[in-house]
Amino acid sequence: MKIIRSIDQMQKTAELLRQEGKTIGFVPTLGYFHEGHLSLIRLANKKADTVIVSIFVNPTQFGPNEDLDNYPRNFKKDKKTAEMNGADIIFYPEKNKMYSPEHLTNVYVDSITEILCGSSRPDHFKGVTTVCAKLFNIVKPHFAVFGEKDFQQSVVIKQMVKDLNFDLDIITSPIIREDDGLAMSSRNTYLSSEERKDALSLFQSLRAAQKMIQNGEKNPDKLKDAITKIISSKKNTKIDYIQIIHPQTLNPLKQIKEQARIVIAVFVGKTRLIDNIAAEI
Ligand code: AMP
Repeated sequence: MKIIRSIDQMQKTAELLRQEGKTIGFVPTLGYFHEGHLSLIRLANKKADTVIVSIFVNPTQFGPNEDLDNYPRNFKKDKKTAEMNGADIIFYPEKNKMYSPEHLTNVYVDSITEILCGSSRPDHFKGVTTVCAKLFNIVKPHFAVFGEKDFQQSVVIKQMVKDLNFDLDIITSPIIREDDGLAMSSRNTYLSSEERKDALSLFQSLRAAQKMIQNGEKNPDKLKDAITKIISSKKNTKIDYIQIIHPQTLNPLKQIKEQARIVIAVFVGKTRLIDNIAAEI
């Protein structure tokens, strides 16, 4: 497995691979890999000749009071696990090479970035779309894999790719969970053992709502109430949002239909966690 740090070298390598007729699969990440990340690498490996994984803690997607400086990092371990799961190249750029002081251009997807996570994290999605646009131009992938864990992010990226005619496919991959149901996240490392227990209420509430739907409940308000009750019964939780949305438009639903997704964001202690579940009838 190769580590590439220079943008120029990454572009030249990608160009060469394309000339050789190789299919490039791309997995963009912030690093600190867990099974969630590794599942994306494995999926890319099934479909691509060459799997490129980027590790870049992108400063522009973190708000001023967020955890950029404390974000967990472990490049040595990431390198090992990425290789074991089928990565061929890690693109690991330096921060000041990705954003020069003269950087003026941003990519902004309207409306769907202003709701849900966008309302509590202003500018977050602008950071995500801008860095993904840059990474797509650097890595030149035929497809990129995103996790459903960040459900809104995957919808926003698909919209950007469609609107700006990026020549690649976006593939999404299911949420990987711990044995007890907690969605894997690099941010879980911030949780104390008591908070970790309270964090289980996220998945438990989503499963409870899913069961209510299977038993015929179609009213989003009733589902939201049930989710709120379960999560707010825990001492360390503070709900940011609970919403039941159409999975393509992200519009809130007035009634559960064939296509629905329950998305939630909850502070557990100081850590903001997100989770979601399919909620079709
Ligand atoms: P991050 O490093 O947190 O930016 O995540 C990189 C990619 O991994 C994104 O596409 C995430 O959606 C995906 N991802 C993170 N956690 C999980 C998980 N538990 N299951 C599946 N995909 C995940």
